[in-house]
Amino acid sequence: MTRQILVSGGTSGIGAGIAQAFRDAGDAVTAVGLAGPDLDAAAKDPAFRGIDLKPLDVSDQAAVDAFAASLTQVDVLVNCAGMIRRMAEYEMPTFLKVLDVNLGGTMRLCLACKDLLAQSGRGGAIVNTASMLSFFGGPAVPAYSASKGGVMQLTKSLAVAWAKDGIRVNAVAPGWIATPLTQALQDDAARSQVILDRTPMARWGTPADVAKAVLFLASDQADFITGAILPVDGGYAAM
Ligand code: NAP
Repeated sequence: MTRQILVSGGTSGIGAGIAQAFRDAGDAVTAVGLAGPDLDAAAKDPAFRGIDLKPLDVSDQAAVDAFAASLTQVDVLVNCAGMIRRMAEYEMPTFLKVLDVNLGGTMRLCLACKDLLAQSGRGGAIVNTASMLSFFGGPAVPAYSASKGGVMQLTKSLAVAWAKDGIRVNAVAPGWIATPLTQALQDDAARSQVILDRTPMARWGTPADVAKAVLFLASDQADFITGAILPVDGGYAAM
């Protein structure tokens, strides 16, 4: 039976790369993203052909519940929706919003999809998106860092709690990946060089790099792996 994959944040950057990689592997893929320009552009982009695109704000509990109620099969859930607001995260409304999207949104979709994942004949799998800032502090992004530390601990907690339900829960921790989220850093030659100097493999990562690790964690090859946080970082965290 064809696997059904759900990818949040699947209309842009890493999530789009993940959605396309699952599609290319022969899975049925639904990618959700915020209603707006990225979703509209994805709908017209041939790179998304064959991917079911839907609007969903992961910080909207009612919308997530209604969306989940419309699903009949989820074998793999990839939580990739995320936002970052450099310096603005020192203002409480922004701090709480970033936590609500990155950490709350991950938990919302995990809870909403749990029963369907447990019913997956092949064993359900969740792959969350952590970050290097799950391990290190980020002085310009306190909410983003707190949220990604939270995603790491949430991943481990759900892995322990849901193993009995046949659901594996893992996360990737991408290093510095070239996407719209990091465009400002890529465009700043000095800051980009600092990142490259600190990355043993000396290049920016790509969404495809992260997708390969996600497909592995979601596959039979990772049958006995749960609660793992897998860096995909060209060695950044090892330095
Ligand atoms: P991106 O291109 O900006 O993608 C983020 C995605 O999340 C977009 O599709 C965005 O939708 C969606 N999103 C934002 N708020 C949402 C909400 N409330 N509900 C639903 N979707 C929402 O950035 P990216 O770099 O690919 O990031 C993807 C994930 O990887 C994030 O969790 C990020 O924290 C993580 N990550 C990225 C890096 C990196 O170096 N790029 C490193 C570590 C971790 P719109 O496009 O419509 O706004």
